[in-house]
Amino acid sequence: MSSCKSSKTVLIGVDGGTFALLDPLMGDGVMPNLNHLIKRGVRAPLVSTAHPLTPPAWTTLMTGRTPGNHGVYDFIRVDCTTDPPSYTLANASDVKCETLWSMATRQGCKVTCLNFPMMFPAPRLEGANIIPGYVPWSYLARAVYPRELYARIRERQGFNAKELATDWQQERQAVQGLAEDNLEDWVQFHLVRERRWFEILKFLMEEEPAELTAVLYDGTDRIQHLCYHLIDKQTAGRYGSPASLRARDLALQYYRELDGFIGEMIAAAGPEATIVVASDHGFALAGDRIFYANTWLAENGYLRWRDDAPIDSDSRVALDENTEVGTLFDWSQTKAFAFSSSSNAIHIRKARGPGEPGVTADEYPQFRDALVRKLLEVRDPQTGERMITRVMTRDEVFPGISGEQAPDLTIVLADLGFLSVLRADASIKPRPMPYATHHPDGIFIAAGPGLRCNARVEPLSINDITPILLYSLGLPLSPELEGRVPESIYESGHLDAHPVRFAEGEAIGRVDAQGDLETLSPEAEAQIRERLKALGYL
Ligand SMILES: [Zn+2]
Repeated sequence: MSSCKSSKTVLIGVDGGTFALLDPLMGDGVMPNLNHLIKRGVRAPLVSTAHPLTPPAWTTLMTGRTPGNHGVYDFIRVDCTTDPPSYTLANASDVKCETLWSMATRQGCKVTCLNFPMMFPAPRLEGANIIPGYVPWSYLARAVYPRELYARIRERQGFNAKELATDWQQERQAVQGLAEDNLEDWVQFHLVRERRWFEILKFLMEEEPAELTAVLYDGTDRIQHLCYHLIDKQTAGRYGSPASLRARDLALQYYRELDGFIGEMIAAAGPEATIVVASDHGFALAGDRIFYANTWLAENGYLRWRDDAPIDSDSRVALDENTEVGTLFDWSQTKAFAFSSSSNAIHIRKARGPGEPGVTADEYPQFRDALVRKLLEVRDPQTGERMITRVMTRDEVFPGISGEQAPDLTIVLADLGFLSVLRADASIKPRPMPYATHHPDGIFIAAGPGLRCNARVEPLSINDITPILLYSLGLPLSPELEGRVPESIYESGHLDAHPVRFAEGEAIGRVDAQGDLETLSPEAEAQIRERLKALGYL
């Protein structure tokens, strides 16, 4: 076993971070610390997972493995073996590959890991302080590893679990209707939450410094989904109402504060530290049309709605409250369906036996290929342009040990938007409110010993982040990792002088030591589902 001999390494996760917004913000002096970091470091676009979505992308970033191996495809885990098919919220037990946090702690590095998804229940990793993200606040005390860490942070002045973790009561108020008037509250909500995470981070950096400190700021993703059009200079001028202007000012305040946290973290880590800023995916404005996937599947004979399934008249992306879309299908006549909008996934129902509803193994290849062809023919009735630019099959983009759990098909919409799972009176309809979506190109910025200064390099893969961080920690890489330590980001000759080392067999096929599997109460799970729906993910 090798031991950790590094100087400090800090990973600052910026959910949905995109240079398209950050460059102008830096140019306007809103983010001076990030600007300074870029000037003394190296930057590149960071290409996300095949479908650029938060849970699979962060899981790839923190395992160095693609979704086909780590097994996380969405906020939910779909089970097509039940009758009818069903889903539950994904959690840490769905991650089928070892995380960076485990690789580092078992080799003697202390780790701090705050607010990452798919970390609940927190794995038992000696030498780690872990507070998972996406946890209902009432579960926070039990979600933290080690458990006594919670007592220490609770005693801190200003600690408020509701402001730190998921508090649906508060969040629901902020997103009601997602009308223009509520955008300011929405930004404010995330602004306060980031302050709470930063206070804990600062406390841990001072009191229990770790070799690897990682934090995820996810307000960027949430704010950008609803306010991108107000932040992007190319569109902001079109929205001049008092409510829009207030939301815009507060969003700029959010980025200013985020930049302040980044500056303080860099200072706390010290001049010898390696700093990496990375995102799970980028962002871009979505187009003005919504594709109603299940409605289209019904029009084309692949799905049947129950007669009492309501028809969406408000051009929403997702369902309200506790309606699960699966309850709206007539399963006896449904062969293909979409459960969540965020995954852009279409599942093909397998027949459990001859004469049963679904598609038999013999029929499957032909059925799937015909469905793909038909999807690629879908055109916008207004412009005549293709709505869907690509339909990715599971074998194509999610090969690996967990490939069986991947959706049969994942569609790429021309505007990169998310599909809608709702029943509508037409399969393509106008989008009523500006909405921004995920873009495959995220951000990578790094500065520190051996890294190039003031350099822009070719795009890196999100698979490369775990290798880069392990290398920075002085640790060997597992041969299973699917990324690499890219030569382009280092000063010439650096990798020759300090070669990348590879681990022997012990690292193969490992998974994290699982935490106590604390299942959520039905109420808590319902709250998280409701929240994902409000965000347009389910
Ligand atoms: Zn994200």
